[in-house]
Amino acid sequence: MKTLLVEDDPLLGQGIADALNYHNHLVEWVRCGQQALNFAEASEFDVIILDLGLPDIDGLNVLKKLRNKNITTPILILTARSTSGEKVTGLDYGADDYMVKPFDLPELLARLRALHRRESHQKSPTISHQNIRIDPAVASVFHNDMIVDLSRHEYDLLLLLMTRPEQIFSRQSLVDKLYTWDNDVGSNTVEVYVHHLRKKLGKNVIKTIRGIGYRLGDCTE
Ligand code: CA
Repeated sequence: MKTLLVEDDPLLGQGIADALNYHNHLVEWVRCGQQALNFAEASEFDVIILDLGLPDIDGLNVLKKLRNKNITTPILILTARSTSGEKVTGLDYGADDYMVKPFDLPELLARLRALHRRESHQKSPTISHQNIRIDPAVASVFHNDMIVDLSRHEYDLLLLLMTRPEQIFSRQSLVDKLYTWDNDVGSNTVEVYVHHLRKKLGKNVIKTIRGIGYRLGDCTE
């Protein structure tokens, strides 16, 4: 899951970024409102975690600006402001969830998964496609009910394709989803992960759409 973390507190930001990273989020961490706007416009995220007390633009204004720009990414406000009036304002401005600091990390992770499920119209906590099943809560993949060992990037790529089974992804959009700005992306890395997934899950698991990109394939073929 590609996550934009907006948090100016260095210790807390590092702690959240490390924890999310450990739990298979691809984290882009920014420390002010303007950077949040720049990043959200430049790249597509699955979820945004937004602090309200930011050094430049107040988080509520960041939220308002994002929604005015038609950026519909689910946003979870994570803040020390805890009055019900502030919660109502945040939700009315277009936030999807609201958590008050100090917070419980497992609950934050569960709420982010729930936002992602809602966004991708999944009702079940696991995602299935024919003989493949993903359990995002424990980042595990099963093929014919046997667990499959995937690398971090292979897992991210498979999850992305299975979350949107009808969509054709261009190579560039996959690069955008699978890497952060400071990653060094080799020219054929997406192809390498596609190759590995086909080896591990069957050659038809990913379909190449010539000249366009990739989509989830039909494993029963
Ligand atoms: Ca703050």
